[in-house]
Amino acid sequence: MLSVGIAMIQGARHEHGQAVQQAAEELGLEIEIIYLREQDDVSNELDCIILPGGESTTMRLVSTNHNVLPAIFDWIKENPEKKVLGTCAGAILLSNPGDGIEPFIQTGISRNAWGRQRMSFEAEIDVDLHVKEPDLESKPLSQLPLDKDDHRPLVVRTGDHDGFEGSFNGVFIRAPRFDSESCTDQVIAKLGEEVVGVKSGNILALTFHPELTGDAFFHRWLLQNES
Ligand code: GLN
Repeated sequence: MLSVGIAMIQGARHEHGQAVQQAAEELGLEIEIIYLREQDDVSNELDCIILPGGESTTMRLVSTNHNVLPAIFDWIKENPEKKVLGTCAGAILLSNPGDGIEPFIQTGISRNAWGRQRMSFEAEIDVDLHVKEPDLESKPLSQLPLDKDDHRPLVVRTGDHDGFEGSFNGVFIRAPRFDSESCTDQVIAKLGEEVVGVKSGNILALTFHPELTGDAFFHRWLLQNES
């Protein structure tokens, strides 16, 4: 049983819970989701952590009550062999943890750099990351879990997702932008020439929201052994 921690500070948290559950079913794995609300929830029992999107400034503020962010940052430092997935505001926190903490990815990031909320968009992005295919034979799509409204998530498959050089439906919501010029991390996702996903060791930082697509590709990466 894998233990998946999701930072419950603010933002798109529940959707990540659904996506990682879907990924687990697709891979035939058992998981337990631990919602990280205060520092004591962040333990070495966790196998991986998700830092959702939302508002990074709000997250920093809210976190001061229960110190969950500093605990997560310590955990990341102490567990380099474990996986971390940061999306959107989560990517901002990984690039710029603040309080003098060394960045977890080296690529600089600018907040809200596509413009205001109404400039949010969807676009097909190119992905270069090796991820296990879903074991759809044992779990047909019709058996994917229902969400809280009893809806079955739409599985958007825009390309060949069996590993390298696939495409993915990128959902960018008041998204940040990586500094593509100064990027020294491994680039794993691009929107045209623009870097939108980077990997540093076992840490993946994405400026878009994979948890809103119904496609659990990046969540399968989080659960698989291979980096
Ligand atoms: N605009 C947010 C921030 O600056 C990020 C947006 C998101 O996570 N969708 O933190």
